[in-house]
Amino acid sequence: MVKQADLLVVGAGILGTGHALHALMKGYSVILTEQDNAPQEATVRNFGQAVSSGLTAGKWQQYGLDSLQLYKNIQAVFDLGIRNNGSYYIASNADELQLIEELYAINQQNGYECHLLSKADCLQRFAPLREDYCLAALYFPLEVSIEPRIMIHRLLAYLQLKYPDTFTYLPNTPIIGCSSANGKAIAESTKGEQFQANKIIICSGREFRMLYPEIYRNSDLVVSKLQMMQTFPMPEVSLPGNILTGLSIRRYESFEQCPSWSSKDNSVYDQKLFDNGIHILFKQAIDGSIIIGDSHEYAPAAEIDRLGFDVNHEINDLILEEAKRIINLPDWRIQRSWNGYYAQVKNGDLFHHHIDENIQIVTGIGGKGMTSGLGLAGANIKQTFAL
Ligand SMILES: Cc1cc2nc3c(=O)[nH]c(=O)nc-3n(C[C@H](O)[C@H](O)[C@H](O)COP(=O)(O)OP(=O)(O)OC[C@H]3O[C@@H](n4cnc5c(N)ncnc54)[C@H](O)[C@@H]3O)c2cc1C
Repeated sequence: MVKQADLLVVGAGILGTGHALHALMKGYSVILTEQDNAPQEATVRNFGQAVSSGLTAGKWQQYGLDSLQLYKNIQAVFDLGIRNNGSYYIASNADELQLIEELYAINQQNGYECHLLSKADCLQRFAPLREDYCLAALYFPLEVSIEPRIMIHRLLAYLQLKYPDTFTYLPNTPIIGCSSANGKAIAESTKGEQFQANKIIICSGREFRMLYPEIYRNSDLVVSKLQMMQTFPMPEVSLPGNILTGLSIRRYESFEQCPSWSSKDNSVYDQKLFDNGIHILFKQAIDGSIIIGDSHEYAPAAEIDRLGFDVNHEINDLILEEAKRIINLPDWRIQRSWNGYYAQVKNGDLFHHHIDENIQIVTGIGGKGMTSGLGLAGANIKQTFAL
């Protein structure tokens, strides 16, 4: 029998699940299919910071603020593992201090709450922070941390519980074909099942071979491979919030608006850090372990396999060497290290392609998916159903 819904979504990452969430909230029926037994791509492997502060004021920052609100609203009624501990950008030298002061002034004008913290404030909040690294910090109290290994699974469980009559979640269901006929969209799975919907939204992340490969081949999509590490639990250490550091200040787009952006001197850092797209982030997971990230390597969508599957230990060593300049930990042993991959477009926006009036592809949100994905999905559901 052909299963039917108002909307069929392909892919249960943050974009696919976000579209399902918004359509359900508007009263539509939704089928969400995931190729794996449970999502295990970028949405599960990421760092887990929702940092609208890293985005320039405008559409994407607004999507970030909308996402923050939604994370908090759901967390208030169902535990997604979201913690509202804020984000901290820690400056380590005069250029970075200047940049955080300038971004503070910009945000004062834009009405985005943030506070400058002195060195003493920072050292008091974060015992592990090294006195010889930190000069000051810019603090965004509204932002949240996510536990990526659990959040999406809980969000899917929440949707199944809240919308038992209108939501069908089908893991282990790869979609291998989509078409339109008589004003309806039809999708087919590897098991030969057929699904009929008014609209299909394909949120397939970095999977470019199963559906419309020729469209991706001719796109400007690139894939970024990131390396991450996690220590063993250290309950005696307290490092709340999203901790971003000097190299993040030199990487995140929001700082590009600052008057002194182009005059900063990058030669104070080892060039190898920039060559490998390294900036240092810390986040204490709920079990007390510290997540340490990350690095970036790139390949075009059609050559994704060039990125390989190995963890590059030289890159991990570079990350750890810089991390040790920033904080002191009683135990630097690494419990696990992994790669994550995300798709992005060259101008940093989004890959949003309409196959026809019923079928669309939404991917390539890049490194901002956990920050802005839910907000973007809300806007796209409104547009798709002309609400
Ligand atoms: C290491 C790392 C750190 C990051 N840190 C952050 C961060 O701190 N903050 C932030 O905002 N962003 C971060 N990001 C980016 C963020 O994780 C991504 O932007 C986001 O997860 C992308 O979501 P998605 O739904 O587009 O893709 P995915 O999470 O890749 O989901 C796509 C899903 O579609 C499924 N699928 C594909 N094809 C099919 C098919 N044909 N049929 C059925 N299912 C299919 C896949 O199995 C997958 O589950 C990070 C990313 C990585 C890799």
